[in-house]
Order: sequence, then structure tokens, then C-alpha cells
Amino acid sequence: MSTIDEVRQRADIVEVIGQYVRLTKSGRTFRGLCPFHSEKNPSFFVYPEQQTWHCFGACSTGGDVFSFIMKKEGADFGDALRLLADRVGVTISARSRRETEGKDRLYQINQVAAQYFHDLLLNSPAGEKARKYVAGRGLSREALVDFQLGFSLNSWDALKRFMAERGYSESELLEVGLISETEAGKTHDRFRNLLMFPIFDTRGRTTGFGARVLDDSLPKYMNSPQTPVFDKSSSLYGINRATAAIRQQNRAVLVEGYMDVIAAHQYGLHNVIASLGTSVTEKQVSTIKRLTRNITLALDSDTAGEEAMLRCVGYENSLDSEVKVIILPEGKDPDDVIKQDTKIWQSLVEGALPVIDYTFKVVTSKLDMTKASDKSLAVSKLLPIISEVKDDIRRDHYLNELAKSAGISYHSIESALSRIRVDRKAREPKAEALRRALQPTASNRVEEYCLALLLQHPELKVQCQELLPEYFANSLNREIFGAYKESQDISLLKERLDSAIWEHLDSIIVKSLRADKIEQKYVDCALRLQETYLRSLETKRQEALASAAESGGPNAELSKLQEQGIEISIQLGKIFVRKNQIRS
Ligand SMILES: [Zn+2]
Repeated sequence: MSTIDEVRQRADIVEVIGQYVRLTKSGRTFRGLCPFHSEKNPSFFVYPEQQTWHCFGACSTGGDVFSFIMKKEGADFGDALRLLADRVGVTISARSRRETEGKDRLYQINQVAAQYFHDLLLNSPAGEKARKYVAGRGLSREALVDFQLGFSLNSWDALKRFMAERGYSESELLEVGLISETEAGKTHDRFRNLLMFPIFDTRGRTTGFGARVLDDSLPKYMNSPQTPVFDKSSSLYGINRATAAIRQQNRAVLVEGYMDVIAAHQYGLHNVIASLGTSVTEKQVSTIKRLTRNITLALDSDTAGEEAMLRCVGYENSLDSEVKVIILPEGKDPDDVIKQDTKIWQSLVEGALPVIDYTFKVVTSKLDMTKASDKSLAVSKLLPIISEVKDDIRRDHYLNELAKSAGISYHSIESALSRIRVDRKAREPKAEALRRALQPTASNRVEEYCLALLLQHPELKVQCQELLPEYFANSLNREIFGAYKESQDISLLKERLDSAIWEHLDSIIVKSLRADKIEQKYVDCALRLQETYLRSLETKRQEALASAAESGGPNAELSKLQEQGIEISIQLGKIFVRKNQIRS
């Protein structure tokens, strides 16, 4: 039995969730107030028989014990696994444990260094100019402490000596990037005479550092290099202090600078975080997605280029909601606006434009839309972005807008759009089937078969849009599907997944499949998954209904659960129709 299965078997879901939520037994289920949204009447149910949970309220989502911990702790699959393994006393594989222990040590080294830099900023005579700098930027002492800001001495070996005295070896310091090595093999402190910004992950572990010069010298900013615990493209500055507010306000506001984040929090705007000086990445979006589906960007106009906006539309599809963009007053940073008046900031956030409207505005404002050449330029820039919008109604809306502002017919816009689609399809990689020995797996055979089809036949990717991660009951499979759906390149799938999942992933990739009627098999399989999901949801809903009726819940709640039943039957009806269409 794999570690994952063992943890799943030993971790009783009622017990695990019971540590976070007050659960009351009611019939065959347990219910409580949903920990993911605020509510007065409990619509959160735990099903001991299936070892699953579901929220019938605002979240209308559910899963198994792993997905609960991931959502609740803001953890990725691997961390959730290790956390649960720890609680239920399962020893995880030596490799995985070595990895965790090794990583824990690296986080610890960073934390010790962060504390060292922090003390220097607050107390050392050498830190005076850094203290003056942060005071000049209007940061309160409380903010310095909250974000553990620091200062690194103008020395080649001050940190190295400090850490050596505490038992950290040179090779460990090299591994976390606190020191660097010259070609001659000599080592020295990487960060010298800089204002230090420790970077934390969602769980508050110190992953690395950002740093800024205190004068006008260049480069202005530097970061820790890529290390086993630090990856710039997946880090979000301030996320450890913003998690609760992002959940509560159901929105994350992304800015670019460290100072912008600190100022925002100092002024009580706790849902503000920063991408690390780059445009937003897919990895960052998937971290935020565990907290909210609503993202608002406050970017400099030079980073908010068309290419970045095109990526944002991709994120919209994966978030299943609109990404919005704040338009900052000319020449101002979020920092400036917030310090001037938080009300102005709030109104900017509220008035943020959907990313496509924003792009329309930026593109057309630079053009003279009465000139034929500019019209054509606008269409060529905007159409590829619009074509990425998955939602038919929204896409149609923007096609109409574009036709109107370019003064051309809807028909010609539409035919230009279909040319783009044909081009894109032609560029997609050809199928490259991998066939090796079959690894029989007992659990969730349909889920794994479906994943095998998708992973081995890249041409199916265009068809998987209707398939939702929720349809996968097993959170391992759900993780793999989620990563697959979001990544452009299947060969990079492993990078997105925790190493604890690799073995399972490999077993799916090598599953041997017969190469005939692939598309039809996929359609069958996807329908079956959706049907199984809906049927199990229906069972859960009925149990929830029985339990709500038994405990005499308010009528509004009962009728809401009843309404959801109608929705489920409609969807099941549609599946029935589609199955018949396929057969005939
Ligand atoms: Zn909920």
C-alpha cells in the first residue's frame, strides 16, 4: 500500500475536520459551520461512510481529507500529506522524509538569518541609514516587526561568521543562497549593505529574501537565487499575512513592490500581496486560487503589456472568473495612493476594469480608430486575446465591442476569429503515445483511465474544458488533472506536482491503452465521471436534507437544498440525452 493510501485509511475524516470545525452528528452525516465561508446556518457536511465532505452553501465544493487540509492550511498536496501523515503516525518514505527534513533545515537557516538581519535593522549603529530610509518611506515600527524587515552589514563575511557560530555549514548557506561562491572557490555573503525583505510562504516559513539598495546604485533589487525552498515565480510577498483577509474579502489584490504591500497592511488593507517584480505567473495564480477566485491587479503600465494580458485571460479560464485591473493615477505607485487616502485606494479597487476591457482601452487609446491601418492593428492585437475567452457569452460581447469600435461587420470579425483558431490547432503537438507495461491500480479506475487518455493523447486537451477537477473524487487524481489543465506542456507536469504524486503519475502515463476510437472513449469516460460525480452529490444532498429536516433547520435552508436537487436532476438529464446521442 502506498503512503498516500495508508494515510487516507488511517486519517478519519470526521476526526481530522473535527479539529477545525465543531461538528454535530445528525443521521449518517456530521454537520457544522463551513470553515471556508461565513454563515449562520450550517451547510457544511462530512460523510464518514464515503470519507468525504461537501459545502452546500456559498462554496458548493467538496472533496476528501487531503483536499480539506489543502484548502484549510493553504498547503499543496505534498505538505498536506506530510501534515496528515504526522498526525496519524504514518512514516512517510525515506526519500520523502529526507526531503522534508532537509527542507525544514533550510527554512530554519533562512529564519535565523532573517532574525539576524532584523536585529541589525532595529538595533545596530550600522543600521542607522537603513532606519532613516524606512522612516522616510513612512513605515511604522510595527510594520517593520510584522514583516521582519532587516539590514545586512556592509561586510563580506558577517553573516557567514554569525551562522557558523550557530552550527550552520558553508554548504548549507550556499544551498539557501545566503552566500555565493566565486570562480576561485571562495565564498562570501551574498547580501551586503541592503535593506532585507524576508519572503514567507502561506504557512509562514521563510523561503528566501528580497533586498533593496539604500542609495541610487544598481541593480536596485536582488533576490535569493532559486533554491530547494525558494522559487521566485511561485512566491507571493505578504501571502503569510494576507491569507485570512483574502479569504474573508474573497479577493486578492496584487501589486508589484514590497513597499506597496507593507504600506497597504500598515493602513489596514490586508488582502494585498505582491508578485516578485515580475508579471503574474501560473504558479502564483494556483496558490491564490486556493484562497479566492477573484484577483485584481495593480500594475505599472509597462508590465501590463498585451502579452501579460493574454496570459491573464488564460488565468481567468482557470479561475473561472474575471481578472480585474486597477488603473493607477499617472506616475503613482499603490504605495503613494494608499498613504494619501485609503478611500481612494478602495474606490480604485472597486472600479477596477475586467482585464479585457482594460486591454481594449490601452490598445485603442494609442490608435486612431478612423484610420484603416489602425483598425486592422487593433483587431490583430485584440482578437487573439478575445479568442482565449472560454465563456461564449463574454466572448461574443467582446467580439461585438471590437466590431463596433473598429467600425467593421461582426461577420468579418468572426471569420478572422475562426482563422486564428485553425492556426492554433495546427500548431498543437501531435500525439505521441507512450505504451509500456500496465500497472494495475485498484482505486478509481475510471478516473485513472480518463487521465491516461488525456496524458497520452495531447490532442484531447481541447476537449477537456467541460471536465472539472471536482469530478475527480480522489484528490491525487484531482491534483494531476488540475495541473494538466493548467499547463501548456505535459512534459513539465512533474514540476507542478509534489514528488509524493510522481509515482502515481508515472503509473498513469505508462498505462497501456488501445489506440482506436480515442476520442469516443474519452467522451464516454468524461460523461461517466460527471455522472458519478452528480450521483454522489445527489446522495450527499439527500443525506444533508434528511439531516437538516431532522434538526429542524430554517425553511429557507431546506428549500435551498431542494432547489439544488432540481439543478442536479437537470444536469443528469442532460447527460442521459448526450449518452443517447452518442449511441444512436
Ligand atoms: Zn462553504
